Amino acid sequence: MTTPSSPHTPQASRGQIDTLGDDHVGTSIDTPLRDDAFAMSDADKITAIAAKFRDIMDLLGLDLRDDSLSGTPHRVAKMYVKEIFGGLNPANHPDVKTFDNIYDYDHMLVERNITLNSTCEHHFLPIVGVAHVAYIPGDRVVGLSKLNRIVDHYAKRPQVQERLTRQIAESLRELLGTDDVAVVLDAKHLCVSSRGIQDEGSSTVTSHMGGRFATDEGLKREFYAQVGGTT
Ligand SMILES: [Zn+2]
Repeated sequence: MTTPSSPHTPQASRGQIDTLGDDHVGTSIDTPLRDDAFAMSDADKITAIAAKFRDIMDLLGLDLRDDSLSGTPHRVAKMYVKEIFGGLNPANHPDVKTFDNIYDYDHMLVERNITLNSTCEHHFLPIVGVAHVAYIPGDRVVGLSKLNRIVDHYAKRPQVQERLTRQIAESLRELLGTDDVAVVLDAKHLCVSSRGIQDEGSSTVTSHMGGRFATDEGLKREFYAQVGGTT
């Protein structure tokens, strides 16, 4: 099997790439995906990734004949394709229906403390935290659990927290047909707490304030009060 070469040949030098990774700087709002990203079936991807992960474990010197390790390559491959990176595939985007705003509710609606589990694309280590999402309904509203599902979909990709914030906001803006969308993510990066600078206590907060959330200071203050003063 030959792997198609990426059209995104890195332009940065090795040193720049290391710095980019440790500073957790992303390069674009869209997840950098190849055009042929989903040409291969999930089942074939799992088989191919398992073989490569087996090589990594083997190179680390692990004895793959051990019962505890022998199933790990397949488990990791399946977890990558079907679970923690399942959000790469647009086919897995949640089917979100919107409804007429029959109650004419026109104040902000906040869904807070949505569990956030993602993966840092620079180190492939977990990003763990919470998302707070708000919008001001116009003509359309959405079922509350769908807000969680949208957060979860975009979290299930190799991510940069800033990009994840924007992708969630953009998805909600399109779906709800309004710019009045606010997203705050507050998350710990295991690559910061368990390696590198090894800071156990810090968390990273990113936010997107759209429409009236950007222009109305009172509204913005109320939103932050609702989500527990996270700034
Ligand atoms: Zn990282």
